[in-house]
Amino acid sequence: MQLPRYKKKKRLKHKVCQEPGCGKEFIGHPIAKYCEFHRNIANRTRKIKQYEAVDVKNFVFKHGFTEVTELELTCQLENCQNKYKVKIFPKQYIYPKFCPLHRNEYKRDAFQAETA
Ligand SMILES: [Zn+2]
Ligand SMILES: [Zn+2]
Repeated sequence: MQLPRYKKKKRLKHKVCQEPGCGKEFIGHPIAKYCEFHRNIANRTRKIKQYEAVDVKNFVFKHGFTEVTELELTCQLENCQNKYKVKIFPKQYIYPKFCPLHRNEYKRDAFQAETA
């Protein structure tokens, strides 16, 4: 026996949006994962991956400089005290996290192996 279509449509469930940080409850199809807002892919944080990538080699430096300023930063690699100069641009907040020597992953690993 085949069920009329409108009956299928009624099989809606109480769901919780899977988008990290949303948690909004909604009534949706049993396989629905996102609330109405996050069903639109443009509203979902696929940026998370991008953010992680930024985090590996760069860091977010929240500054208030209104003109280009050269700053001396210290390499954030454990046990490395090398200083490097970075030009800070107004409204740009992503900067390299490591001294020029350690911007390459292979060199960072080698350095950590040495100092371990
Ligand atoms: Zn949501
Ligand atoms: Zn370094």
